[in-house]
Amino acid sequence: SNVINASQLTLAYDNGKKEIIKNANFSIKKGEFVFITGPSGSGKSTLLKALYGALKPTSGNLIVGGLDLADISTGKLQELRTHLGIIFQDYKLVNEWTVAKNVVLPLMIAGYSVDVQNTQAQRLLKHVKLSEHADKYPLELSGGEQQRVGVARALAKNPVVILADEPTGNLDDYSSNVIWDLMENACQQLETTVLVVTHKIPTIFSLPYRHFIIESKGVYEVH
Ligand code: ADP
Ligand code: ADP
Repeated sequence: SNVINASQLTLAYDNGKKEIIKNANFSIKKGEFVFITGPSGSGKSTLLKALYGALKPTSGNLIVGGLDLADISTGKLQELRTHLGIIFQDYKLVNEWTVAKNVVLPLMIAGYSVDVQNTQAQRLLKHVKLSEHADKYPLELSGGEQQRVGVARALAKNPVVILADEPTGNLDDYSSNVIWDLMENACQQLETTVLVVTHKIPTIFSLPYRHFIIESKGVYEVH
């Protein structure tokens, strides 16, 4: 079953005047791992913005987790976000909060009890091998460790889809491989659909994956 479906999708800025993606068609199934590449400025971040509901399509349809983002209410947008885990190049952690609190942010927003938050924080931090850093603050960690916090936060609610924007863009090869392993693992063990925008597809990748490229405003599958 499709988790993401775009048909005749057009994305634009400046009230539709500046078209970035035009009449794109693609679909992504549950449990697939997908890379999206394309030159700088081609629209990769724009497509991700649309997928997490921060940019409304100008025309066409974009369905994510059963919700049509071309025609979505604010309430439904909240619902969409509960099904998504998002990983950013610059981690976007709250530096004033401990690592443990950062990880359970999605659970706090969803109103889970402190007990559930604590149990889940322990489970998630163990998973990304940061248990001993639970009470530290993000800036006390290395970049690779900060991104492991980002991955743990993205996994906190067992999302249907993980969206990642250059997740290893600031990391060395060793830390990058740790992050790719965690993302492959989520895809394989939890059947999470993972969609990653990246400059460079990792060579160590072991799962079968699909590759789309954004070019001349279109989204095309590379075979
Ligand atoms: P990429 O992620 O592939 O580098 P982006 O999606 O960031 O590309 O940008 C695609 C194009 O859209 C670029 O020309 C960029 O300048 C433009 N753009 C991005 N955000 C905005 C915005 N908020 N308003 C107008 N133009 C934008
Ligand atoms: P990235 O490095 O991820 O490709 P960009 O540098 O394109 O991102 O964009 C960074 C931020 O600036 C984004 O929030 C985007 O919306 C905004 N932005 C980019 N280009 C433009 C533009 N031409 N006009 C207005 N905002 C823009």
